[in-house]
Amino acid sequence: MIEEYRDFLPVSAATPVISLAEGATPLLEAPRLSERVGARVLLKVEGANPTGSFKDRGMTLAISKAAEAGDRAVVCASTGNTSASAAAYAGRAGLTCAVLIPEGYIALGKLAQALVHGARVLQVRGNFDDALAIVRELAEQAPVTVVNSVNPHRIDGQKTAAFEVVDVLGDAPDILCIPVGNAGNITAWWKGYCEYRNAGQATRLPRMLGFQAAGAAPIVEGHPIESPDTVATAIRIGRPASWYGATAAASESGGAILAVTDEAILAAYRFLASAESVFCEPASAASVAGLLEVGAPAGSTVVCVLTGHGLKDPDIAISQIAVPMVVDADLGAVRTELAL
Ligand SMILES: *Cc1c(COP(=O)(O)O)cnc(C)c1O
Repeated sequence: MIEEYRDFLPVSAATPVISLAEGATPLLEAPRLSERVGARVLLKVEGANPTGSFKDRGMTLAISKAAEAGDRAVVCASTGNTSASAAAYAGRAGLTCAVLIPEGYIALGKLAQALVHGARVLQVRGNFDDALAIVRELAEQAPVTVVNSVNPHRIDGQKTAAFEVVDVLGDAPDILCIPVGNAGNITAWWKGYCEYRNAGQATRLPRMLGFQAAGAAPIVEGHPIESPDTVATAIRIGRPASWYGATAAASESGGAILAVTDEAILAAYRFLASAESVFCEPASAASVAGLLEVGAPAGSTVVCVLTGHGLKDPDIAISQIAVPMVVDADLGAVRTELAL
């Protein structure tokens, strides 16, 4: 991904590019969703990245720059996907990776990824915001580089998703729908659209619609949330580091930051899986839940960002659908149950 967009990224011949072939993710037409909304809706399937989330776009650049600077260790706080991605890219670069995760609130698949890629994982008795505060202090006292989205290279890498959308559609869409947690990604997409337009690659900018979970909606409510709560653990954040980036993207684009309930998120999650055959994680479905709530003008083009892969959180998936029935190993029994 760095090679494709080198001219727009802070890299030089001296930068060792640490890549796992991230980016170039599908921009998938969503016919059933389009029918429901009455507009052309496409899904940017970021779960197709190497570690299963958009975090890889930011991590390839953050780790490449860390390697260029001669760093030996990186650290992050994570609701899961940042740790999975940091562990993989740091491992590839031969850097030590330490991650702090909130105890009990990380999807099983993400924890497995951080562990298999060799990160030093600590569970913190606290939430993501507590973990990020410790990470930032740690980096002031110890020789480690923070690879959370407070690291500007993360934002620069992640903006390439907007470039890809413009490259495929030929211009920016009318509306971009995106989940908002720590708010780095909406900041990055907006930066990408603006830079591409300024470079003459697009003629216009989309309206940016960011969606927080109702139980973790500090930007919507206008104040930090001490104990954020939502089934969408990737956006269970009460004190977004890029708060200003999110509100700037919304106001400059004529968009908004809005909240969607867990019920609406899970309904969108099931709809995407059953009607569009796209399995994303609950946080990702917030973009579609939001679109279904606010709608879009007839004839407009909407892109929904599906931030991470559904397989990361199998517990949620199974809790949402009935557990399969057990039958005898007998054709008759199978035919009876399937009514076939
Ligand atoms: C990190 C993440 C988000 C939130 O992105 P922010 O940049 O923190 O707003 C949403 N969905 C998934 C799957 C994520 O991993």
